[in-house]
Amino acid sequence: MDKREKAKKVLDILEREFPEAKTALDFKTPLELLIATILSAQATDKLVNKVTPELFKKYKSAEDYALAPIEEIERRIGSVNFYRNKAKNIKACSTQIAEAHNGKVPDTLEGLTALSGVGRKTANIVLGNAFGKNALAVDTHVKRVAQRLGLTESDDPDRIEADLCAVILPERWTRTTHLFIMHGRATCKAASPKCGTCPIRAYSVYYKTEYKGKKG
Ligand code: SF4
Repeated sequence: MDKREKAKKVLDILEREFPEAKTALDFKTPLELLIATILSAQATDKLVNKVTPELFKKYKSAEDYALAPIEEIERRIGSVNFYRNKAKNIKACSTQIAEAHNGKVPDTLEGLTALSGVGRKTANIVLGNAFGKNALAVDTHVKRVAQRLGLTESDDPDRIEADLCAVILPERWTRTTHLFIMHGRATCKAASPKCGTCPIRAYSVYYKTEYKGKKG
């Protein structure tokens, strides 16, 4: 089976498994999603959602973050890992948005990745979820699921994104991120994937080689 056909069948099954799949981060505007996504690096979405309501109430625009003393932002996000670095990035990218983009978050990959501390993953999350564009973000779950299915042989997130985009229709890119994350959290866990009951095991290279190999 070629990779296009495999990806289609896998996504059809995962759509039935997780019809409600969407980003777990709470947001109302592109700026809020950008800030929440920056905060979510190596932190749980749950923790980020605890911190952001007060943060978003205090700072409503990019200019608000740009003008705020860095210590004040740090204090408000202090329970999140790497809060000092994240506060620095939030303030820096907000300043760029306020000064170079009239206070509006850019809606292109090039515009977003030109902002301080914003890589392709963050940019694609914002494009796909706040702007409704076709965008495939590769996080640790997407990477693992794609590798185990045999849809990529790479370890590099940019290369994995390109490999997936080459075999998945653009209108499914944003959903692919949500569905692979849900599947990665529920079944295709890093340390002990539940291959025996996995609904897409028929398409999994890992299942045929590692899992069945171990079971004999
Ligand atoms: S069979 Fe196992 S490794 Fe393959 S996708 Fe399912 S849970 Fe992941």
